[in-house]
Amino acid sequence: MTDQKRVYNFAAGPSTLPLEVLKTAQEQMLNYKGSGMSVMEMSHRSSAYQEIFDETKATLKRLLKIPDNYKILLLHGGATQQFSALALNLMQTGKADYIVTGSFSGKAAKEAAKFGDVHIAYDGKENNYTHIPTQDELDIREGVDYVHLCENNTIYGTEWNYVPDTKGAPLVADMSSDILSRPVDVSKYGVIYAGAQKNMGIAGLGVVIIREDLIKPHKENIPVLAEYDTMAAKDSMYNTPPAYAIYMAGLVAKWVEDQGGLEEMAKRNEKKAKLLQDYLDQSDFYNYPTEAGSRSRMNVAFTTPSKELDAKFVKESIAAGMTNLKGHRLVGGIRASIYNAMTYEGVEYLVNFMKKFEEENK
Ligand SMILES: *Cc1c(COP(=O)(O)O)cnc(C)c1O
Repeated sequence: MTDQKRVYNFAAGPSTLPLEVLKTAQEQMLNYKGSGMSVMEMSHRSSAYQEIFDETKATLKRLLKIPDNYKILLLHGGATQQFSALALNLMQTGKADYIVTGSFSGKAAKEAAKFGDVHIAYDGKENNYTHIPTQDELDIREGVDYVHLCENNTIYGTEWNYVPDTKGAPLVADMSSDILSRPVDVSKYGVIYAGAQKNMGIAGLGVVIIREDLIKPHKENIPVLAEYDTMAAKDSMYNTPPAYAIYMAGLVAKWVEDQGGLEEMAKRNEKKAKLLQDYLDQSDFYNYPTEAGSRSRMNVAFTTPSKELDAKFVKESIAAGMTNLKGHRLVGGIRASIYNAMTYEGVEYLVNFMKKFEEENK
């Protein structure tokens, strides 16, 4: 395999990984640090694996500056599994408010509504999810068990830029598509959770960062793998954890740290997003409907003047060495996902292609 054969992969998830991380995984594939075996073949109870597991958690704790009164759970099932687990664990009085700013927050609300009284505190349907609500637009009830939001809307390409006031209720945030992309004040959240395959590694792993006082004795009738107290007590090893995905998340977190941590990631991500967004804004060929203050630095969704040209764009982008630029089936058009592992050169390459495409088709 030569590196030249790698494409610029703009996939929303699973998504591109840092080349250095893939090379480390390759180098350690057959014989992890003299153990004589691959990480895939290790007992999750072995000391070699325990070290990988502990180091992954420790690196995440350092990077996100996670306070001591939070637990990090490394669980199966991605973010969707947590849509259910959150409601099953956190609904103590049975009431929760959900802020719906896109597809995944809608799915999370729908899942929670199976288990309790869910009130939609905001729904961005009318503006086609191009807008993140202001505090004044939120209709949050008093005394709910938690308020849920999705920090970055992967499909529509919007992202929160403030932490809303929840009237004292714990704030629960789905950070699947922007975790590790910028510093966060973890202490403002009750729970942060994320599937790993967008910005933190590979599929199969859901990371849950939860304030300890929110881990309550589980209800009698919930699935054991959804019990936060059991998972916390067993340090996520009630059963075999998603061992290789945890190893990969550890490598990615270490890579982020070596690059300069979350401040450096934030700087790079701003710079990449600005390059693409500034170009879209000055162009009268492309349409970028997302409201200025609500734009995601991770997923940029736009269109050309027609569906036919969108399809042509996607086709030609593949021929030019890029992939996965086709928009999500819900919104169509084009979407560029530019997570931590997408280089500035990759975005520059895309923008140059877009300029040429505009010239040739306007
Ligand atoms: C991809 C995604 C999900 C779903 O993640 P799975 O790991 O596939 O369950 C949920 N929320 C957001 C914001 C996502 O981007």
